[in-house]
Amino acid sequence: MSEDKYQAATALTHLGREPKSVQGPVNPGVIRASTQLFPNTKELLAANGTRWAYGRYGTQTHAALESVLCELEGFEGCLLTPSGLSAVTVTLLGLLRTGDHLLMPDSVYDPSRHFCDHVLRENGVEVTFYDPLIGAEIATLIQTNTKVVFVESPGSHTFEVQDIPAIAKVAHDAGAIVVSDSTWATPIGWVPQALGIDVSVHAATKYIGGHSDVMMGVVLASGAAFSKIKAMHKLLGLAVSADEASLALRGVRTLSTRMKQHAKNGLAIAHWLATQPEVETVLYPPLTGAPGHELWKRDFNASVAASLMGVVFKSSVHRAAAVSLVDTVKLFGIGYSWGGYESLILASKPAASRTQTADRWQNAMVRIHVGLEDPEDLIRDLEQGFSALRQAM
Ligand SMILES: *Cc1c(COP(=O)(O)O)cnc(C)c1O
Repeated sequence: MSEDKYQAATALTHLGREPKSVQGPVNPGVIRASTQLFPNTKELLAANGTRWAYGRYGTQTHAALESVLCELEGFEGCLLTPSGLSAVTVTLLGLLRTGDHLLMPDSVYDPSRHFCDHVLRENGVEVTFYDPLIGAEIATLIQTNTKVVFVESPGSHTFEVQDIPAIAKVAHDAGAIVVSDSTWATPIGWVPQALGIDVSVHAATKYIGGHSDVMMGVVLASGAAFSKIKAMHKLLGLAVSADEASLALRGVRTLSTRMKQHAKNGLAIAHWLATQPEVETVLYPPLTGAPGHELWKRDFNASVAASLMGVVFKSSVHRAAAVSLVDTVKLFGIGYSWGGYESLILASKPAASRTQTADRWQNAMVRIHVGLEDPEDLIRDLEQGFSALRQAM
């Protein structure tokens, strides 16, 4: 397939399988293995150092998923990990050593921050959290030992859109590697290498799995960066089951179709939320006029936008009133892990873990994931939620 360059929807359907060269099922089998057998000692020794030596390195099922993800983002190598968080941690462990310096956005996914505070700092890696809106000014934070500049755009819970090309230029001039948590973007929502991203990490748990039943992480990179992370992945013994890889591959097949609907539904709900008098700001970069919209439009593919957003209420709305909205709606589940086919809501409190930007997030907030339901039904449900909020004010 790789000689031809297809549109995302076609690539998602055809990569990682050879429809004309097999007789049998459409999908690659779920090949589970711990032991890999060899006809003789010579063959066993020849397999050492390759993925076919041992079950932990994955089977043809894993290889099919990896090849699809590599082709989509244009990277040479793909590693699968047991969770999105472990994709972040193996990447940082692979690229950083004692004495190195890491720049992390203040809006980074909370457990990624905890890993920096507890594992990296305790092992002599310097970590500076920076304002995600810093842009080219990040040059003022670069040190001679800065090895990795991490980005996550839009930011967790607060959805700041980062000027990744400006940040990447400064990082590259200083010889640092740009690592992106690309979960919101998905593998089809932008062109990571065109933005200057060297390592693209995903929580496949979210939109790639897409059905709220897979835990998996993905690391995509090329060249020396990939080799370092791959070596750490092997040392740590990270492995993913063939069943999970197969579920993620199934998710990939419909990623473009699902994302188009998520994008439409997300925009419809964001528009409606923006008209509610108790709402101060809808943190949804695809919404015209929302914070970060212009940068977002420059860097992202609008037709497949994610549908995860934040709502900031006016200061007259207390957190308890926001909670009564959350607890009243019926079609929105209350839960953390998003990216499935269904809608979700929760009261969020980002200031609690921010060290550079906490003062911006003092009002009551909720985070909403818009699923594939009909937006009219979702809006009717949210109307009920807003009447509960008004009563509780
Ligand atoms: C959920 C999430 C993760 C972690 O993924 P898990 O599979 O739950 O470990 C990492 N980064 C972002 C941005 C996420 O939303």
